[in-house]
Amino acid sequence: MINPTMDGKAVADCLQHEMKARSAALDFQPGLAVVWVGDNPASEIYIRHKQKACAQVGFHSVLRHLPAGSTQAQVEAVIQSLNADPTIHGILVQMPLPQPLDEAAVILAIDPAKDVDGLHPVNSGYLFSGRPGMVPCTPLGIMTLLDAYGVNPAGQQAVIIGRSQLVGKPVGMLLLNANATVSFLHSRTPDLSRYTRDADIVVVAVGHPNTLTREMVKPGAVVIDVGINRLEGRKITGDVDFHGVSSTAALITPVPGGVGPMTIAMLLENTLKAAQLGASTRASVL
Ligand code: NAP
Repeated sequence: MINPTMDGKAVADCLQHEMKARSAALDFQPGLAVVWVGDNPASEIYIRHKQKACAQVGFHSVLRHLPAGSTQAQVEAVIQSLNADPTIHGILVQMPLPQPLDEAAVILAIDPAKDVDGLHPVNSGYLFSGRPGMVPCTPLGIMTLLDAYGVNPAGQQAVIIGRSQLVGKPVGMLLLNANATVSFLHSRTPDLSRYTRDADIVVVAVGHPNTLTREMVKPGAVVIDVGINRLEGRKITGDVDFHGVSSTAALITPVPGGVGPMTIAMLLENTLKAAQLGASTRASVL
């Protein structure tokens, strides 16, 4: 039987290799700033991965770490200073922010041209209207991985489980823009399998293990598992019963090693894109 596992790590490594060469060809260093408020230990691990990836492709990265008790004004002042910093091309605010900070207001403070997470409403609007802008990294990574495995969504039935701003909605919009017929399922959907059983492509972004099991999947479907769930003993698992579903799916992403590495690669891609756009804007002004 053909191995259905989609190797996100291998695709991401290949993309990062190309990005290193593209970055080296510039006459300046692309720069990414991460804003981290508080001390969430999971955030610390994600930030370390992002900084390591920046170093691997030759980007400059800075961390602005603020204490948990920082005020809204203090966080937004840091973002304003990064907006004005010509050595910084991408700004990422590590979520979640501690209470009572207003995440939506913090995102609004980011210059949309530096919004490498693609969460600013200006960028959501571009995505909604099918125009180029900054696209959230995980959805962009999913589309890039589908493309790398020769999956063309046009004319396919795509089902997205989860409707978050970060993953579910934007990946559904990208699939729609790529001419798939898209259904969004969520916590109020009474019977998930009624939809998933007919789907050619299923994307699961929920945050609960075993949300998608073998009997819910059409044989030959493509299954993308976005979930990251930490089990006892620090083992990580996705939202899909990988063992069961991989016996019937044509393609499936593993966790870890599927969507996660693609997300980091797309953060780098968005930073490089922001740097190149910034450079061309400067050139046209001069
Ligand atoms: P989120 O904001 O918590 O959204 C979860 C979504 O799942 C919501 O839309 C929710 O529906 C839906 N949901 C919850 N229970 C459900 C159920 N029983 N049946 C159907 N839908 C249900 O999460 P997120 O930010 O999208 O992240 C989802 C998962 O992906 C998490 O495990 C996260 O850690 C992971 N993630 C991974 C990456 C990566 O790089 N691999 C990146 C981002 C996120 P309602 O809207 O009705 O509440």
